[in-house]
Amino acid sequence: MLAGFLAAGSAYASDDIQALIDRAEQTKSADHQRFQRLLEELNVSLEQATPRQQDAIRYLNAYALVFQGKHEQAIRTARDLLGTSTDPDVQFRASALIVNAYAINRKFTDGLRQLERTLKLLGSVSSKELRHQGLGVAATINSQIGQYEEALQFADKILVDEPDPRTECLARQVYLDAQQNLSKTEPREEAIEKGIAQCLGQGELAAASFMRITLARALVLRGGREDAIKLLESHLAEVERTRYPRLIADVKATLAELLLEKGNISMAERYALDTLVHSKSIQSSLPLVKAYRAIYEIAERRGSPELALAAYKNYADADKAYLDEVKTRELAYQIVRQETLQKTQQIDLLDQQNQVLQLQRKVDQQAAQNTRLIVILLIVLVASIGYWAFKIKRVQLSLKKMAETDALTGICNRHHFTIRAERALAECARNGEQAALIMFDLDHFKNINDRFGHGTGDWALKEVAEASKGFCRRIDVIGRLGGEEFAILMYGCDLRAAARVAEDCRVRLAQIDTRETSHVFAITGSFGVTSSMQSGYSLAKLLSHADKQLYRAKHLGRNRVCVYEPAQEHAREASNVLELPTREGRAEHNVGA
Ligand code: GH3
Ligand code: MG
Ligand code: MG
Repeated sequence: MLAGFLAAGSAYASDDIQALIDRAEQTKSADHQRFQRLLEELNVSLEQATPRQQDAIRYLNAYALVFQGKHEQAIRTARDLLGTSTDPDVQFRASALIVNAYAINRKFTDGLRQLERTLKLLGSVSSKELRHQGLGVAATINSQIGQYEEALQFADKILVDEPDPRTECLARQVYLDAQQNLSKTEPREEAIEKGIAQCLGQGELAAASFMRITLARALVLRGGREDAIKLLESHLAEVERTRYPRLIADVKATLAELLLEKGNISMAERYALDTLVHSKSIQSSLPLVKAYRAIYEIAERRGSPELALAAYKNYADADKAYLDEVKTRELAYQIVRQETLQKTQQIDLLDQQNQVLQLQRKVDQQAAQNTRLIVILLIVLVASIGYWAFKIKRVQLSLKKMAETDALTGICNRHHFTIRAERALAECARNGEQAALIMFDLDHFKNINDRFGHGTGDWALKEVAEASKGFCRRIDVIGRLGGEEFAILMYGCDLRAAARVAEDCRVRLAQIDTRETSHVFAITGSFGVTSSMQSGYSLAKLLSHADKQLYRAKHLGRNRVCVYEPAQEHAREASNVLELPTREGRAEHNVGA
């Protein structure tokens, strides 16, 4: 039966060699003699064949060697083919053939190992037929080692995948046998009969005959021993035509057993002895055990203890050999199962290690990226802090400037003038230097506003500030005290020098060209001057004394400079004369323009 699944054919081109190959493929399991003849023809024309055809012929040779029982040779041929061919289909068929050779040779461990490799090739085969062949091999070998559950599943995979009729026959046979051996649900007689008919339709005598044994067992189970005997005997000739020793031994051993139960000792003996003949090439098998037991029982029933003892010894030996083989198969299965499990675990472990490594790499990459991001973030942070510090500083500076300067004229406002003037005065006092203060107020400024507008007034104030700045050194302080009133603190200056500066400034203001405003008018100012020599280093005092002189200048007719001199103050006030003190202390007239 096992050889049945080695017979899947492939489509080839239709030259002469190909036609021979195709015919050989078709007949190799059904008509062995014809197959041998075709193979001889093919071997003669091997050199004319294409590489693909040569592969096919080499495969058929390996197949023939299996059939001839030359298993080692068959395995060698198939392994050569497996090594040299690059065609996945050829590789798969060669691998499946090796499985079969091992299985027939009872080398189950090797067979199961090769089966694992074969099933791995299953994904790359080109046709459904080949795939079914692989599954069929798996089903068969599992059935042989008593793993009926697996056998059933592999056979079922074929049956649900719309197999071709021949494959269906072979798969059905394994399926029904496995079902019976599992004794979960006894296969129905009609199903077995249908399977037999289907196999006969495909010319698969061996498979049909194995199914008849299954049917016979089913019949016995429901008490139809006579029917079972009749079934097997009526097809005995067919069975013998298959020349398949295992099948013939199985049928005859079953008949011997049934006939002995029935009491037909002579027929039972004949079948039992036949079984021994057919089992010659088989070291241990259940039919052999059945046959020896039948012979022993027959001897006992005939009352010949010596013969019975000898037969019993044979029976015990066969039984032990058979049980040993069952154990060997079970062990083979467990060994390969463990190996596969171990391999799977190793692969899983490697996968996990690989995953860990990949994760580690990802973590490292992430960390590097994070570091880069942090550096970039820090740079951006530092840059923006710098940028904002710069901006804030600029705002601060502009606010400070705004707080310190007079918006219209751009010189110090009163507050800042006070601070800077006091600082300068303190420094002069410390250094024993003099300081002078000039204060001036524009004359009739209200008139300018009234006559030419506030804009022109503003323009005049800016011009005055600009002109006055020209008389100041860097160490002097000029400020707008309010409205149209200005002051200049002159560092290290005595009263005379300051009075001269005031006079120059007065002249300069009067010269301002106002045509730019589209109006022509005169800008004049009244000046009051004092110095630290007269008023001390207190700004308040200096301002008060200069202010007093300024008002005196106003009072005296404006556009003039009055200078503070405490000793003569009284006298000057009485004479009501506008004066500039001379070095000799004499008053000089200073008439406004
Ligand atoms: P006097 O000679 O007595 O000083 O006469 P005056 O008109 O200059 O004095 P008064 O105090 O009567 O007027 C000062 C004027 O200065 C009043 C005000 O409108 C004007 N003024 C004050 N500040 C500004 C300013 O910033 N811009 C303009 N255009 N005018 C101003
Ligand atoms: Mg004024
Ligand atoms: Mg004023």
